[in-house]
Amino acid sequence: MSKIKKFYRPENLDTALELLSDEKNMVIGGGTTVAMNVPGSISGLVSLKKLQLSEMKVTGSKVEIGGGTTAQELYKWEGINNVWGGILTSACRNIGSTLTRNLVTVGGNIVSVFPWSDIPVVLMLLDGNVVSTGNNKVPFQKYFEKSPVSQGYGKDKIITGIEIEKNTGNEGYFWETFQKTKVDFAMTTICGLIKTENKIVKELRLAIGAVSVLPVRLTGVENALIGKELTESALREALKKEFENVKIRDDFRVSKGYICEVTENLIVKNLMKGL
Ligand SMILES: Cc1cc2nc3c(=O)[nH]c(=O)nc-3n(C[C@H](O)[C@H](O)[C@H](O)COP(=O)(O)OP(=O)(O)OC[C@H]3O[C@@H](n4cnc5c(N)ncnc54)[C@H](O)[C@@H]3O)c2cc1C
Repeated sequence: MSKIKKFYRPENLDTALELLSDEKNMVIGGGTTVAMNVPGSISGLVSLKKLQLSEMKVTGSKVEIGGGTTAQELYKWEGINNVWGGILTSACRNIGSTLTRNLVTVGGNIVSVFPWSDIPVVLMLLDGNVVSTGNNKVPFQKYFEKSPVSQGYGKDKIITGIEIEKNTGNEGYFWETFQKTKVDFAMTTICGLIKTENKIVKELRLAIGAVSVLPVRLTGVENALIGKELTESALREALKKEFENVKIRDDFRVSKGYICEVTENLIVKNLMKGL
């Protein structure tokens, strides 16, 4: 039987924060995680629906997306179709079914981070911030260092939005996910950004998800290859070395070795085809 006794729909952030100062209350976005798993001590849910946190806009060099924006709204937004090579659109399209995407919010997807969560992997690649109450801004790479729930998000910190720097247009992007069947959850998700000049790598960023609890930037590979000509053998060597340091999660479907092999092959395929 549900332990939830109260459901609040505050009309401003101050009231929402006041409600959250009671440890029996927690934030709810789309409710797709909360519906299945309400922490034992929680008896009140604080909905953000009336706070108008679903604005999406491009301001100068920045893309701003409200924390209450649904995955479907973001997927359908033409404003990001051609930004970052469309990888954020691809990631949003991959989130469950249309019905699920209509519920899942950006805030919820980046707070309850599961290995299959699609938006966090893309954010790990891009320049930008998670914005929370009090206009607190945390760069994506720092934000995903630790579980967001353990950092107080959803309790004393409400995510009001994310802001992402637009690309310059000179770099190439890729995103791909791999699962055993169409309805299976991801085994590995990769995305990357590369810029070359006269075959020399000027900029390289790689992020992977699903293989570990939180998304990971492959900074070892990036540092090993920037300033050099990209060859398949150098890339494979750097990836193998980096995987020794990544804490690959247990996956009952396949071995850790298989996950690394697939991830390596996906990255090699995507990076080499663009050159
Ligand atoms: C069948 C199914 C398939 C799915 N498949 C995928 C998939 O393929 N890829 C994928 O990425 N996701 C997928 N999801 C969604 C994912 O697992 C999470 O359920 C979802 O991202 C949570 O978002 P939500 O808005 O529903 O959050 P909620 O369930 O409402 O909240 C989750 C957590 O985030 C906190 N929270 C919510 N909003 C905020 C905010 N604005 N500020 C601070 N804290 C907040 C809550 O307090 C809670 O701790 C799937 C879900 C289902 C049910």
